[in-house]
Amino acid sequence: MKISAKVKRFIDEYLVDLNGAAAARRAGYTDKSCRTSAAHILADPKVQELLAAKMEERSHRVEITQDEVLKRLWAIGSANPGELMQFRRTCCRYCYGEGHEYQWTKGEYQRARQQADDDGKPIPDCSGGFGFDPNKPPVQGCTECFGQGHGHVFLEDTRRLAGPAATLFAGVKQSKEGLEVKTHDQVEALKLVGQHLGMFKTKVEHTGPNGGPIEQKTVIVDEKEVKAAIAKLEREY
Ligand SMILES: [Zn+2]
Repeated sequence: MKISAKVKRFIDEYLVDLNGAAAARRAGYTDKSCRTSAAHILADPKVQELLAAKMEERSHRVEITQDEVLKRLWAIGSANPGELMQFRRTCCRYCYGEGHEYQWTKGEYQRARQQADDDGKPIPDCSGGFGFDPNKPPVQGCTECFGQGHGHVFLEDTRRLAGPAATLFAGVKQSKEGLEVKTHDQVEALKLVGQHLGMFKTKVEHTGPNGGPIEQKTVIVDEKEVKAAIAKLEREY
């Protein structure tokens, strides 16, 4: 059989649900002949060969092995959340200023000076000097913040995330309170890894006392009974 465009279309449609008649209909064969057309096309060795190749290709494309799932879970479980977000303490304006006076960036000072000129106000003080860098750590001897600086929540640029931290990251949500960084559940991931590795097997008794059969007992407890039992114990001891 010649593999026409229509037959190719049939093959693609057939791969969707492996239903010959439906695939024939979608590929444009008339309703009446669908079943026979499908059977006829599918019986062709060339078509069979093509189908087998496409199925093989597809299985490679969507192949997910147990190892890959496990690796992904382990990446989530073992990731360091600190690579995603950090709480940082950074310097205050006086930490690095000369004599612990207010430190500016050059641009800020120029703008403040311009503003003062425009408003007819005195030139701002710049005895603390320039070069303020908000990313520097606080200075212990600072006479304003006493080495505490300011606390900031810092979020990593998620485009740069790599390795386990990238797997841990599950998105960002903008809420009224600000940004919320979402992560996959690390404890849950670790539990699944542990379960897969058989780490949490509970001890199973195969025999009852003295090697006899296991006694099976269903105990239904209600609150009154528990209270009565406690009261009895308290009376006795
Ligand atoms: Zn300071």
